[in-house]
Amino acid sequence: MDPWVNMQHSKLQPGTLWEKVHQTTYHALASGALQPIETQYDFLYQGEMRFLVRILANLNRKEVAKQAQDKSAADGKPFNPFLPYERALFVSDLTDTHLCLLNKYNVVDHHILIVTRAFEDQDTWLTLEDFVALGICMAEMDGLGFYNGGTRAGASQRHKHLQLVPLPLLPEGVPLPLDGVIAQEPLPGTPTTLAALPFSHRVLALPENWLQNPETAPAYLLNGYQNLMAAAGLDLTAPIPNKPYNLLVTRQWMMVVPRCQDSYRSIPVNSLGFAGSLLVKNADQMAILKELGPLTLLCQVADPQPVLNTATLC
Ligand code: AMP
Repeated sequence: MDPWVNMQHSKLQPGTLWEKVHQTTYHALASGALQPIETQYDFLYQGEMRFLVRILANLNRKEVAKQAQDKSAADGKPFNPFLPYERALFVSDLTDTHLCLLNKYNVVDHHILIVTRAFEDQDTWLTLEDFVALGICMAEMDGLGFYNGGTRAGASQRHKHLQLVPLPLLPEGVPLPLDGVIAQEPLPGTPTTLAALPFSHRVLALPENWLQNPETAPAYLLNGYQNLMAAAGLDLTAPIPNKPYNLLVTRQWMMVVPRCQDSYRSIPVNSLGFAGSLLVKNADQMAILKELGPLTLLCQVADPQPVLNTATLC
């Protein structure tokens, strides 16, 4: 299917996504299909970054669901929560290839998932169709789009899913902790590294108003993604990405972080961690994080390829 055709035949009526997200949330909370994860939060500082750290308020439903999913896989019946998806979590069709769901176990309100209709593996490359669907959602919701590319990058589900959380992440301060660092220097439109970020990464600025033209927006994203992946040391000619990675996309910039492991000293990290938002399970993990420092944690889970011109916090 030609993604340009998809773009012209977006299945979402423009200007309706936010209302649909709200409506679906309202009903899914009432029915119990949506099971938000309660957290408290604090801030930790290291280098020039202020990290938002959320702490689980109690043993959470997602853990219980994960145990059930692991058991199902062990019994030879792998469970796919997106095929079929829970009807009560369905927000909207997006294109012929993608649809939008609420994240069932959301930490952040109105966290949406952009999933492929047919099964595709989370370990495969992102495609123009993926970016068409992401572009449709980002045009309607100002947020952080992200992709956990592989289990070692924090993905818990095999079925391909991009994600979008609305900004700001908190009512006060910069919309996203990472924005505080990104705002310090003008970003080029080609892959670069930021001196304040000691973990491996590549970042670039998206052209101003790129979202205003739905015909070209997905191509900007695909092009940026491929440039960043190549600069971060991934082999674009390989059939699937040869390293796990996290992709972060806002209306202003895109970043790729190549990964080597999903967690360090029991603390898991996904794309949100690199945006400056971490999640710990309990006080013990919080104590470890304070002792380590959040940037040091990120250095430990990012691929240790040498990055030029960065501070030496790792
Ligand atoms: P990730 O863990 O990054 O792979 O993202 C997958 C997301 O899917 C997680 O954040 C889960 O909360 C969410 N999830 C798990 N089960 C379901 C479900 N049945 N419907 C919708 N979202 C789900």
